[in-house]
Amino acid sequence: MNLQGTSIIGNSRGSATGDTFCATNPATRESLAVDFHAATTAEVDKAASLAGAASIAYGATSGKARAALLRAIAEEIEKLGDALVERACAETGLPEGRIQMERGRTCGQLRLFAAMVDEGSWVEARIDHGDPDRQPLPKPDVRSMLRPVGPVVVFCASNFPLAFSVAGGDTAAALAAGCPVVVKAHHAHPGTAELVGIAVAAAVASCGLPEGVFSLLFGSGREVGSALVRHSSIKAVGFTGSRAGGRALMDIAAARPEPIPVYAEMSSINPVFILPGALAERGKAIAAGLHGSVTLGVGQFCTNPGLVMLGAELDASELLGELSQLMSASPEATMLTGGICKAYRDGIAKHSANSNVRKLAAAGATADAFTGAAAVFEADGAAFLADSSLQDELFGPATLIVRHSSREQLHQIASALEGQLTITIHGTEADLADHAELLQILETKTGRLLFNGFPTGVEVCHAMVHGGPYPATSDGRSTSVGTQAVFRFTRPVCYQNWPDNILPDELKEGNPLSISRLVDGARA
Ligand code: NAP
Repeated sequence: MNLQGTSIIGNSRGSATGDTFCATNPATRESLAVDFHAATTAEVDKAASLAGAASIAYGATSGKARAALLRAIAEEIEKLGDALVERACAETGLPEGRIQMERGRTCGQLRLFAAMVDEGSWVEARIDHGDPDRQPLPKPDVRSMLRPVGPVVVFCASNFPLAFSVAGGDTAAALAAGCPVVVKAHHAHPGTAELVGIAVAAAVASCGLPEGVFSLLFGSGREVGSALVRHSSIKAVGFTGSRAGGRALMDIAAARPEPIPVYAEMSSINPVFILPGALAERGKAIAAGLHGSVTLGVGQFCTNPGLVMLGAELDASELLGELSQLMSASPEATMLTGGICKAYRDGIAKHSANSNVRKLAAAGATADAFTGAAAVFEADGAAFLADSSLQDELFGPATLIVRHSSREQLHQIASALEGQLTITIHGTEADLADHAELLQILETKTGRLLFNGFPTGVEVCHAMVHGGPYPATSDGRSTSVGTQAVFRFTRPVCYQNWPDNILPDELKEGNPLSISRLVDGARA
């Protein structure tokens, strides 16, 4: 399939007049065909307005119709075949196996959302029957369910060209909820975005849905992205990327005449707490697992474990020796973009220049602008507490070991942690019993607690929570992975004394969809 390099705006293509840019293959440094054209101001307005115009009709579609769309998108993506895998590999430097796995995950999550909306109970239908004879006042008939918020802007993530991009988790969740989507492509993988965009647009057309249900725009975040977030037709935002980018969008959304929610996944250092019993039992195995998790995908995962807590009084020589040896021997590898690589190198240089931070191990660092080398640093608990910059996300294959000097200091550090996507405990049963207060503190800091595991690898399922308090995300009440993500793009609507024949099917007395509902306080 030939790329055109222009935005997809409903049923039509954008003009080839805006600013141009092209993708770079980070592994070969070659510029890739074709030139991509930024959406013009008029095109941004058209895409957002079409989404606004489509939102009533699309919001009124049945769960079965939305399920058919989500399944059709998965089929269209699969039909792209090797062309999609080749382009995604070329634009990201990621290996073919990883891209194939990500495509499977992307189509799998589209189908998971499809199954959920097909079944229908996710809308949380609640019915409280009225009682006209109640004294002193009659009780009204009150029914509620979740309804779509309206058009959503989705910002593609650089580190998941498929699963967190054009047809990724946010798009699947928004379409499942009944919201049209306008995607802002990431400049690092525009060809991948265009291919998937063509697939989504084809699915929208084949399902007979209004054209404004989906658009894909190219262009810079500060211009095209910000203009979309400001547009009055847009009602919510999904974002994965840097804290600075997410924060900028939160501020724009909050300053609108009509503020809208931003669901931004930003920075997390995913602390790992290694407790004494676990260290004594399996220090070497923990080191091997940590190495695998820190270096996976050249450390470019939001769940990369960037902080490891260890008691200073413990003999951690086996764990630290093994980890240092494994990290030193890790080959340098291609990172996603020159910008991400530069930010990683700057972070390494900052740690190296910090007199309170010791370098335990580092793989050889060449002067290549696209490759990252693994590194392990160590600091004392007091230094960590005194320097908040040691909590900054270092997006790449590096981790910081912090040696806490006492139980009191361990609790101080846990309390001082910023919000995290994940926190991991390595311990024995005796460790857990002995650290009950620590566990209570940690639960307030994260969206996902792991026991004796490693945080990279996020299962796409119904119970998953991939979220956490700020700055891990902009709204810790939500998740960007798993079917609970649908809730971020909904709002509850209540129908009081509404005639049965005009109630949504989900709330009709006879329960024609046979869904699970809360009727007069009991599950039915
Ligand atoms: P980014 O710079 O935040 O960019 C993500 C998207 O947001 C891009 O589309 C970008 O537009 C847009 N954007 C950025 N700043 C903006 C602003 N001020 N106003 C409007 N739109 C804006 O993230 P990135 O390029 O993926 O990577 C940069 C850094 O983000 C990494 O080094 C890493 O630290 C962090 N990151 C974190 C995660 C995570 O999951 N925690 C994932 C990816 C990246 P442009 O196309 O114009 O750049």
